[in-house]
Amino acid sequence: MKNLRKPFALTVAMSALAVGILVSCDTDDDEVTPTTTASAGTVSITDAVSSNFKSAVTISVGTNSIVLKSNGVPDHVSPYWGSASALYEAPTLTGQIVNPGSLQEQTFVMTIPIFPAEASTKEETSLGPIGMALNGVAIYNDREGGNVPVDAGTLQSFDRSGAHSGPGGLYHYHFNGDFTSLDDANLIGFLRDGFPIYGRQDKDGTYPSDLDTNGGHTGVTADFTTPIYHYHTSNVSYLDSRFYVLKAGSYNGTKGTFTF
Ligand SMILES: [Zn+2]
Ligand SMILES: [Zn+2]
Repeated sequence: MKNLRKPFALTVAMSALAVGILVSCDTDDDEVTPTTTASAGTVSITDAVSSNFKSAVTISVGTNSIVLKSNGVPDHVSPYWGSASALYEAPTLTGQIVNPGSLQEQTFVMTIPIFPAEASTKEETSLGPIGMALNGVAIYNDREGGNVPVDAGTLQSFDRSGAHSGPGGLYHYHFNGDFTSLDDANLIGFLRDGFPIYGRQDKDGTYPSDLDTNGGHTGVTADFTTPIYHYHTSNVSYLDSRFYVLKAGSYNGTKGTFTF
């Protein structure tokens, strides 16, 4: 199904029509059907959240939801720290052009369901935080201001973690990178609908071939012995770069809040 993601991205502006277009495109792959009917909502993410988020993220487990708080700054080196920081490193990528302004501490509060469930109507992800990586950094989709896909010029602003800073010094991952996931099955974080996001591989080392138009499928992972819906990073190099999009398209579930 991953070959359908590009057509989806091209049609996503016509979101009201996108479902119909997808159906008409979906002539060669019936494997998506089990995924869309999987009864998520029965698998708790509490243990996986509690055991995988780093100490920089404060976790509060309620009755139905989990609240994750962080200051949004990475636990790894980046040019975006600014040269006065011990975590500063000079740009390492060919042609890299660092955005002006250093990264700044934020006040992130993300609330996600303990039992994430598939939504009957899938909401498109939007600009701004769509999830939180295990170190508390915000995850963004494949788009930039104006809601257009990251272009070749903007691509030069990313550090080797697939991140850059935006307005207010808000540092965020759009792509995979050296400190989250490269060509592996790493757990990267959780999106606002409560579903986890992994690297390009499944835990058996294979590249999933049955991803739906939102980049996910249902199955077991290193963190879930009961099958659960989970996203994967794209397995297609973005604009022939070193980067792979973390998440494009819509949420599978209903998004929780993310304030900052
Ligand atoms: Zn950005
Ligand atoms: Zn998978």
